[in-house]
Amino acid sequence: MKKLIIIIAILAIVFTGCAKNENASMDNKGKPLVYASFYPLYFLAHEIGGDNIELKTIIPHGVEPHDYEPSINQLKDLSEARVLIYNGANFESWIDKIVGSVVDEEIAINASQYCNLIVEDGVTDPHLWLDPENMIRIGKVIKDRFIELDPNNKESYEENYETLKNRLELLDKRYYEELRDKKMDTIIVSHNAFGYMAKRYGFKQIPVAGISPDQEPSPRTIADIIDLAKDKNYEYIFLESMASPKTVETIAEETNLKTLVLNPIEGLTEEEMERGKDYISIMEENLENLKEALVK
Ligand SMILES: [Zn+2]
Repeated sequence: MKKLIIIIAILAIVFTGCAKNENASMDNKGKPLVYASFYPLYFLAHEIGGDNIELKTIIPHGVEPHDYEPSINQLKDLSEARVLIYNGANFESWIDKIVGSVVDEEIAINASQYCNLIVEDGVTDPHLWLDPENMIRIGKVIKDRFIELDPNNKESYEENYETLKNRLELLDKRYYEELRDKKMDTIIVSHNAFGYMAKRYGFKQIPVAGISPDQEPSPRTIADIIDLAKDKNYEYIFLESMASPKTVETIAEETNLKTLVLNPIEGLTEEEMERGKDYISIMEENLENLKEALVK
């Protein structure tokens, strides 16, 4: 972190002055440069901005985001951004060092400011994107900001936002309807990522690891989960696509639980991108697997 602070201090000196230059902040086709810190926000900006913006992500696709730190080249590039969208809610440990120095505060959108947040034991749960209503709210803020920045394409931003909002509302409706007749009310998951989803659709999660997947559980926690799984006749334990603690597999073996994937959509792998997957399609896959564990 110390190294990062020094780099930022240098960049702040080098780039102050040119960051406000109109030419520096448009790409060569005159499109505004937009940065999203990680995939779900990238998805929103992509759907709303379409071809009217030049869009980049700070946390590369396929990289587990909880402990990511941006490189010096990324910071240089970030100083050219016209909009920076980030999660806030303690997700990007590096963001406070960037907003107000590498990028102006006025260009930054702190998504968590527009969401209903879950606070547990004094810690804000950052996984707010797993509630489609939060995605709609953040999307509206992004849409308004794009219009302010680029009023010539107002109609396109409005239209794209409406389409996106409809897709997210439909997704939300499907979750409500298809999880309504639950036979189980609790799932065992790999890390504490599904609080927002669980709250919205009325079930509980028992996480193996903490808020970040690398917060490995204590032997006591593992033993407790094994006991519980045996007691309640759980049939499944949920794995992630990008990062699952080894202990999930240990628990599965120990208890004869079958594994299913519940993707926290913290990032898409290159392969998922190439196959045309996005936030909505992964949420739909998640719903199918949730139904397997909760409804069937
Ligand atoms: Zn997480």
